[in-house]
Amino acid sequence: MSQSGPLSDPLSEPRRNLVGIGRAELAAEMAESGAEPFRARQLWHWIYHRGVTDFAAMSNLAKGFRERLAATYELGRPAISSALASADGTRKWLLRFGDGQEVETVHIPESDRGTLCVSSQVGCTLTCSFCHTGTQRLVRNLTSAEIVAQIMVARDALGEWPKPASATSPATPVGEDRQLTNIVLMGMGEPLYNYENVAAALKIAMDPEGLSISRRKITLSTAGVVPAIARCGAELGVNLAVSLHAVTDELRDRLVPLNRKYPIAELLGACRTYPGSSNARRITFEYVMLKGVNDSPADARELVRLLQGIPAKVNLIPFNPWPGAPYECPTDAVIAAFSDIMFAAGYSAPVRTPRGRDILAACGQLKSESVRARRTAPAPAPSA
Ligand code: SAH
Repeated sequence: MSQSGPLSDPLSEPRRNLVGIGRAELAAEMAESGAEPFRARQLWHWIYHRGVTDFAAMSNLAKGFRERLAATYELGRPAISSALASADGTRKWLLRFGDGQEVETVHIPESDRGTLCVSSQVGCTLTCSFCHTGTQRLVRNLTSAEIVAQIMVARDALGEWPKPASATSPATPVGEDRQLTNIVLMGMGEPLYNYENVAAALKIAMDPEGLSISRRKITLSTAGVVPAIARCGAELGVNLAVSLHAVTDELRDRLVPLNRKYPIAELLGACRTYPGSSNARRITFEYVMLKGVNDSPADARELVRLLQGIPAKVNLIPFNPWPGAPYECPTDAVIAAFSDIMFAAGYSAPVRTPRGRDILAACGQLKSESVRARRTAPAPAPSA
C-alpha cells in the first residue's frame, strides 16, 4: 500500500477496492463495521452477480449504509490501456494495474460458447522457447483481485451483467446466448506457480451467487508443475490442460525447460491420478506444432503410446509466429496427418483454429504492449 505522506488528510486516504475479495473476507470486513451478515451477502450479489461499480445503485441497501460504504470503499476496475478487436471477433484487452504492470486478457467468441483467456502472472518465468510471453523480463504474480478483475472487465465490455427486471423480481437468468461462458487459464503466466491467488480467484468465479461460472467450464492449463496438480484437482475440481508439446524428455527439456524439473513420466503420472478426470471429463494435452521439430508421424505414434490409460484428448495448436521466433508452423497437410494418426488411435485431436492472430492475441503471442513499445521505441532525442 502506498502512503500519501506524513501530511496526508484522512479524507484523501485511498479507498479500499472491494472487487476481488473473497466471501469470508467480505463478511469479516462488514462484521467489523457493524453490518449484519445478510448485508455482506447482498453486497456480494451486487459486486459479483450484478457487477455494479457504484454503491448508489445498490437499491436494497439503506441510503446511509451505501454512503458509508462509498466513503470507505470503491468498486474499481483496472485501467484498460488498450482494447483491440480482431477481424474474427476475438477481443484483447491490455489491463494496467496500480503499480503500472500490465497483462492481457482475450475473449474468443464461438458459435456455441465464448471463452475468456485469463492471465495469472505478469510475464512468465518458464521461458518456453516457442512462447512470446516467456521473453518478457518482468514477472510478478497477479493478486486474486487482479485475476478476478479480468473477468469483471470482460463482462463490462460484453455488456453481460444481468439486469434486474424490476426491484422486486429476481435477476435475469443466465441465458443461452451468453458470450462469456467458459474460462481458460491460458493467458500470460504459469497458474500453478501462483496457486494460492489463482485458487482464491477461481473460488470467486465459481460462486453460484456471484460470477457463477461452473468448474466444468473452467480449464487450468499448466506446463507441468507436478506437485500442484493433485491439489488443483482436489480443491478446485476444474478441468486440466497440460502443455506437453514433446514426446521425449530430450526435446521437451529444450521446448519447456520446466521438464528438467518434472520430466514427462512424472507429469503423466500426475495426470493418471488427476482427481475428477474420467472419460466424460478428459484431460486436454496441448501440443504446439513446430515445423520439423515435433510434427512427424513417429512423434504422433509415440504420443499415442504415452497417453495410454489416461482419459485424454489432444489439442493440436499450430505454432503462432511472433517477431523473432525461432520456429515455423508446419503445413496444413503435416498437421492433418498428425491429427489423423491420433484419431485412428481413438483420440479426439482437433486442430485449434488460430484466433486473433492479427491482434497478437493467439496462443503464445501475449506480451504486454508496454514492453513491446519500450523495446521498439527509438531512443529519446537528447534534450536541447
Ligand atoms: N503456463 C501455462 C499457461 C499458458 S497456456 C501453460 O504452459 O500451459 C498457453 C498455451 O499456449 C500453452 O499451451 C503454450 O504452450 C501455448 N503456446 C505458447 N506459445 C505458443 C505459440 N507461439 N504458438 C502456439 N501455442 C503457443
